Amino acid sequence: MALHSLRGFRDLLPPDSARFTAIEAAAREVFALYGYQELRIPTLELKELFVKSTGETTDIVEKEMYAFTDGGGREVAMRPEGTPGVVRAYIEQNLSQSGRNGKFYYIGNMFRAERPQAGRFREFEQIGAEYIGNASPYADAESITMLVRLIEKAGLPGCSVELNSLGCAECRKTYRQALLAYLQGCAEKLCEPCRGRIERNPLRALDCKIDGPWLAGSAPKLTLCPDCAEHFARTQELLRISGIQHNVNPGLVRGLDYYTRTVFEVRSSALGSQDAVCGGGRYDDLVKSMGGPAAPAIGWALGVDRLAMLLKDRPAADGSPKAFVVAAAKEAGQKAYELLTALRAAGLSADFSSFDLSLKSQMRSADKSGAAFALIIGEDELKAGTCAVKPLKQPGEQKIVPITEVTALLTTLAAG
Ligand code: ATP
Ligand code: MG
Repeated sequence: MALHSLRGFRDLLPPDSARFTAIEAAAREVFALYGYQELRIPTLELKELFVKSTGETTDIVEKEMYAFTDGGGREVAMRPEGTPGVVRAYIEQNLSQSGRNGKFYYIGNMFRAERPQAGRFREFEQIGAEYIGNASPYADAESITMLVRLIEKAGLPGCSVELNSLGCAECRKTYRQALLAYLQGCAEKLCEPCRGRIERNPLRALDCKIDGPWLAGSAPKLTLCPDCAEHFARTQELLRISGIQHNVNPGLVRGLDYYTRTVFEVRSSALGSQDAVCGGGRYDDLVKSMGGPAAPAIGWALGVDRLAMLLKDRPAADGSPKAFVVAAAKEAGQKAYELLTALRAAGLSADFSSFDLSLKSQMRSADKSGAAFALIIGEDELKAGTCAVKPLKQPGEQKIVPITEVTALLTTLAAG
């Protein structure tokens, strides 16, 4: 049987791969504007890292992790999300003492063993941002504004942010009791996993894809303490000042345990049921709970696969070369090769097929390549020290040019 890729793992081919690259490039530009620097964190970590941070009762840890025991008997996991690794690095590398501003971004693949479907893969890419060490609503507003600007820069204007506040540990304590009592009262209506974990984590039921929607209307609502209420109001005010469209959605809970206060999502109905493009929120207690300094933080993770799907009708970089070099006679092969080398050295994209093939076959490849010009060297050109420049995409006469002038001519044409 022929070898094949695993379900939920895919090959990204051009032009889709170019779309991913363009999104990453837009992200890097926007991150630089906001003072974020890149962290490259490992793909494989101790499983315990995710259990402790993402949370034992989350879908990710309960059902979706690629976890295994490695050859040395260590319990490890392929990262299902980026925040735990960033926080681990922040603590392990003492980044709070490094004099940096606490703003980090990452771009990398994540792994979750969930049911593959449109917009849901087992290996997918996230671009994430974390701002560690700033508790103020200015940080919330900056982080969310940067996210929206990034999505716009990538080519998708007009997105709106769904926003909610989950309060602090104090507000949640009272709420937890009220919610637990309510859920116990209607336990028979809950799906099996929710019923099984209401004692351990009643809030998870609100984020459940089955129970969340009906609970949103009927379950008791969280009341924010005065500090959390002020933080939330200020965040919204600052978002208005930045011109960010947002919509307060009390039903937005988010599936991870570590969130406090502000949580948000960017969604698009064009994605169908897998509609979330990005999710994030504040995690004021996580760094400390993992053994680090008391460092409030906020961050988000953007699903690149889903954003690329939303941009699939936009033209992607086509990757065609500017010039395609052809040797019309075997003896001209070396001269053609020298020209190819000179073009690339001058910063002009150029390609060839094989100088030993027939002229007809090389010209066919030239057409297929999408190149703007074919540069042809035959016996006559070789003797005269010239080259034929033939436009392939636009009508125009073939010109004979001294070979020493070809790069200059193409540079002018490329600029024009
Ligand atoms: P969902 O509710 O769709 O499962 P999530 O809450 O699990 O999303 P997060 O953990 O917040 O997602 O990850 C942030 C973003 O990463 C999501 O908004 C989505 O765009 C993307 N993402 C998450 N899981 C997948 C996946 N399996 N395949 C592709 N993209 C994904
Ligand atoms: Mg999920």
